[in-house]
Amino acid sequence: MNIHEYQGKELLKKYGVAIQEGIVVDSADKVVEASKELREQTGTDWIVVKAQIHAGGRGKGTVVGTDYNGVMLGKSPEDAAEKAKQLLGNVLVTHQTGEEGKKVNKVLLAQDVYYKGESEIKEFYVAVLLDRDKNCNVIMASREGGMDIEEVAESNPDAIIKEWIDPKLGLQPFQAQKVAFALGLKGKALKEMTKFIKSLYAAYIGIDASQVEINPAFKTSDDRVLAVDSKIDLDDNAFYRHKDLAALRDESEESPLEVEASQFGLNYVKLDGNVGCMVNGAGLAMATMDMIKLAGGEPANFLDVGGGASAETVEKGFRIILKDPNVKAILINIFGGIVRCDRVANGVVEAYKNIGKIDVPIIVRLQGTNAEEGAEIIKGSGLNVISATVLKEAADRVKEVLAN
Ligand code: GDP
Ligand code: MN
Repeated sequence: MNIHEYQGKELLKKYGVAIQEGIVVDSADKVVEASKELREQTGTDWIVVKAQIHAGGRGKGTVVGTDYNGVMLGKSPEDAAEKAKQLLGNVLVTHQTGEEGKKVNKVLLAQDVYYKGESEIKEFYVAVLLDRDKNCNVIMASREGGMDIEEVAESNPDAIIKEWIDPKLGLQPFQAQKVAFALGLKGKALKEMTKFIKSLYAAYIGIDASQVEINPAFKTSDDRVLAVDSKIDLDDNAFYRHKDLAALRDESEESPLEVEASQFGLNYVKLDGNVGCMVNGAGLAMATMDMIKLAGGEPANFLDVGGGASAETVEKGFRIILKDPNVKAILINIFGGIVRCDRVANGVVEAYKNIGKIDVPIIVRLQGTNAEEGAEIIKGSGLNVISATVLKEAADRVKEVLAN
């Protein structure tokens, strides 16, 4: 689960990571007062106005229909309020949001840490994440901070420093220092960066994150190292021991259909295509999506109704698929193991009865336990259903209905 920059910074601070301080607000009316408070707390003159959305690239993004971007400098509390007004309630498009952009509901007013007139600005990239190939955590760092790290990885992979952490030993102090040294730091800055990396790693472990990315980690002219940005991905499987972290969820950042699906315990991911699919088992769901693509369609979603799906869950899943206006056909692909095909068929028919009119064609492939009973139920329901036996055939039917 992703969280906002301001939430991430608050968590990091608890673990001793030095941050660019700020105050978050949800309305332009509060900006002048909050900016004055920030000036008092931090001694800052200018105020950095930062859109809070679950996407990066804000500094280079644009507010739809304007020349404003997602990170701006307010030279006075009034100027900050003017800039916040351009963000709040409006849509920000960045290279990570897709062209539909994201609505800004909150802005972070942050202290300006880039001292004016400074010739040497030092932005670093520092992240901790899980290396799935090496089965351990890795610290990644680069002197090319402030830039898109994927770009750096492509054009100049040697510029990325990696330090792998033995899961039994944890981060050893010398490793943090080694990374800081490799970043070219000396003296006080080296010590500060070493401390920064140690605290960042402690935070990563403490909050059960799957990724903590600081871009930029900023070295001030007096050699302190601060987190100017934070991108944190929390592992929701660990929420049973972090009730406070689960509460950081911002549902307005998520696709409404995904939020609804999660309430029913469905594994649903919204995609951009036109073929809705309902499958049991994640592996079969992936294979089904591949078949849809091979047949020339694009999956509208990933949906795994799970091994123990009841008629009710199937109905819920079916309704969610139908709420997506892009869906032009639905492919139901069930292999009856623990879940019986007749149950799935009942779920589909129930949903159909309760929803009333369904315009899109439905291709159904039921195999395994009680497949024949399932087929009978669907045949007798009056649904506009096309049956298929093998997966390839189902995909071909999808192709045909899309062509019509
Ligand atoms: P992102 O574009 O979404 O990654 O947002 P960041 O938080 O990384 O900020 C983007 C850019 O804003 C930074 O790379 C800086 O150039 C600029 N910026 C952020 N904080 C400050 C600050 O305190 N002072 C100044 N002058 N610029 C800042
Ligand atoms: Mn950034």
